[in-house]
Amino acid sequence: MTTYEPIIGLEIHAELMTNSKMFCRCKVVDSVEAPPNTAVCPVCLGMPGMLPVINRRAVTFSMRVALALNCEVQHHNIFARKNYFYPDLPKAYQLSQYELPIGLHGWLDIDLEDGTSKRIRIRRVHMEEDTGKLTHLDRTSDLSEEGTLVDYNRSGVPLLEIVSEPDIRSGEEARAYAVKIRQILRYLDVNTGDLEKGVFRVEPNISLRPSGTTAFGKRTELKNLNSFRVLTDGTAFEIARQTAVLDSGAQVIQETRGWHDAKRITFSQRRKEEAEDYRYFPEPDLPPLAISDEWIAEVKASLPELPDAKVVRYRSEFGLSAYDAQVLTEERAVAEWFEATIDAGGEPKPIANWMINNLFSLMNEHKQSIDEIEVTPAGLVGLVGLVEKRTINNNTGKEVLAEMFSTGQQAQAIVDAQGLAQISDDSAITAMIAQVLADNPDKLAAYVGGKDKLRGFFMGQVMQKSQGKADPAVVNRLLAEALAARKAAA
Ligand code: ADP
Ligand code: MG
Ligand code: ZN
Repeated sequence: MTTYEPIIGLEIHAELMTNSKMFCRCKVVDSVEAPPNTAVCPVCLGMPGMLPVINRRAVTFSMRVALALNCEVQHHNIFARKNYFYPDLPKAYQLSQYELPIGLHGWLDIDLEDGTSKRIRIRRVHMEEDTGKLTHLDRTSDLSEEGTLVDYNRSGVPLLEIVSEPDIRSGEEARAYAVKIRQILRYLDVNTGDLEKGVFRVEPNISLRPSGTTAFGKRTELKNLNSFRVLTDGTAFEIARQTAVLDSGAQVIQETRGWHDAKRITFSQRRKEEAEDYRYFPEPDLPPLAISDEWIAEVKASLPELPDAKVVRYRSEFGLSAYDAQVLTEERAVAEWFEATIDAGGEPKPIANWMINNLFSLMNEHKQSIDEIEVTPAGLVGLVGLVEKRTINNNTGKEVLAEMFSTGQQAQAIVDAQGLAQISDDSAITAMIAQVLADNPDKLAAYVGGKDKLRGFFMGQVMQKSQGKADPAVVNRLLAEALAARKAAA
């Protein structure tokens, strides 16, 4: 049996969150929510004689991405017409960078499951425009009719295509790469990363070659994968399918394949066109776009600190574990919230623990993002301070945080109002222990007789007597002393 090595390269399309479209002044609107064909004009409807104008902000956004992905930004940019006929493309050509894209020769390091990292080369980043959106109806649809609806709201929305070299070797690597690109686009504030709405689209190109050989085999390209799960599953399916094709002695056909969500299989959509079929030629209505060194430097200077750099800094500057640093930097808003706690005087490690172990579960439970919660960075610092100073114990701390979460009150105010302050005074706790021992003579006798496990019982009783407010460390120490004294006296 021949074994095969999967060869995978990803094409990622990301709509840019600019205010207006790539070549006209129409607004970029939500493709699901906005009424169809309400954000359109003669330019993006492809009326004859209309002239495109390049959106400067879209170029800036594209440059942000190119720089964040370690690409060389090109000074001389050209848009070309990619010609093909389809009802979602009213001009019958798409304006797209072809020979001279904005970014070349980038790379991105991805983390693999075994803890190592791998560099994936990025071939190019180029600007283009999105097409309209087609909705196919059947008799079961709301309109009870067959047919296809066309919405041109999306026509002309700035689109960035990020093309990797075929350096990826498995569905898991493909996923790690796509997840990281999405994370960076979100850090850069250029894309929401919404796969379901198609704002962020991942298309893997997949081929196999006999293990140990170097030439690439024929590839297929997978489309309409609307989640990361489907990216991994679809890629795995395609690897298995191609393996079976090759094992049977047949050839893989170069084609575009779709993902059938219900059947969980890929199916042939169309034979792959060659680039020549599109008859690309430079757009005559747009002058070359010149990008100056000054503009590049300005965009570079405006880039936020990116996730990888943050992880390194959180580990060295704050002494956090790799895991904690990773979790706290997954989203820029969370990382910034964490950094605000440090600015407010928080201790990095305990704050990280409280965020990861408690705050995130409350956010999940209440389905709120970090931007929506009532707890402020300074508020969490206040709570963690009370626990560290042992004003309240850990368990009370969790309850107080839940209360802060739902009421927006400060920790100290909740502790004062509800009398939650911890009892760590030796004499008060000694009295409670004496009471518990007096109330449970049988258990005490059993303990003295050798049932050591009963110590946990006494501990629980004392904590209950204090309504959970006793300092467990103090109870532990004083209880050990009291029990030892009883044993010695017996
Ligand atoms: P096109 O634009 O026609 O889809 P490209 O040459 O731009 O073709 O390649 C698109 C993607 O396919 C790139 O990510 C590239 O890495 C990948 N790719 C190219 N050849 C192969 C192959 N034989 N197997 C898997 N991926 C490939
Ligand atoms: Mg392609
Ligand atoms: Zn328009």
